[in-house]
Amino acid sequence: MGLLSGLEALGIGVSTQKITPDHRPVFTKKKKKHIRSEHDERGFLYEKKYICPVCDREFEALRVKKSGLKLIGRDDDLRPRYVDIDPLKYDIVFCPRCGYSALADSYEQLMPYQRRWIYEGVAMHFHYENPHNEEYSYDEAYVHYQFALLCAMVGGAKASVKARLCLKMAWLIRGKAETINPRLPVYEKRQKALRAKELEALRLALVGFEKARNYEGYPVAGLGQTALDMLMSSLSMEVGDPETSVALLQGIIASKAVKDKLKEKARSMMSTAMKMISA
Ligand SMILES: [Zn+2]
Repeated sequence: MGLLSGLEALGIGVSTQKITPDHRPVFTKKKKKHIRSEHDERGFLYEKKYICPVCDREFEALRVKKSGLKLIGRDDDLRPRYVDIDPLKYDIVFCPRCGYSALADSYEQLMPYQRRWIYEGVAMHFHYENPHNEEYSYDEAYVHYQFALLCAMVGGAKASVKARLCLKMAWLIRGKAETINPRLPVYEKRQKALRAKELEALRLALVGFEKARNYEGYPVAGLGQTALDMLMSSLSMEVGDPETSVALLQGIIASKAVKDKLKEKARSMMSTAMKMISA
């Protein structure tokens, strides 16, 4: 299993046995797939026109009206939860003509060499029948994220860009898991499979953030050092590495620049991590 598995059914064959933030995939063959949406959330959505920076063709993508969103809260790893809609499904802009995809806030930020690499590595292999849905299902959104991760890998994006995509993929998988009816006989089996997929995405995100922390300047994925360390300590616990979490939290607690409220939260997380270690 790999985060990019399934893309071969959407026109792009990739070797997925080892995906790391630096891995360049190997292309193989093509086929088609049709996916249907499953929730009615049209009231939150509008269509926006884009000109694809890779194939230069115009297309429309669904976007979420920010004014209609009501935030309920955030998970420990910062995943936002909203009333009636999961806007994460619409964070990626996906060109249905060539497959170029990226987070909406960086969609047009391509260097000429990246455009060429993505054209040769993705667009030239792309054959996909766009479902033209009025809203995106979790499965369709996941395909958009897969293409965004593939384009980031092929285009040589920074580790933080790929890490942010992997983190959002993990959140998307968690969002899908929350929609599965517990009365279904396959509930446990599906939850287990989705949790394994989510953990894989979280591990890749953590690897990417570690690299970004060492080699990129702040902000990393929009986060300063303390916020990134808090996120990484949370991710470390989620993937079963409380020792790394403790090391990061010790740095936060010892820092004179960190506010008391945040230190309090770090101490609480440290207590959880210590319990995990001694269990
Ligand atoms: Zn395109």
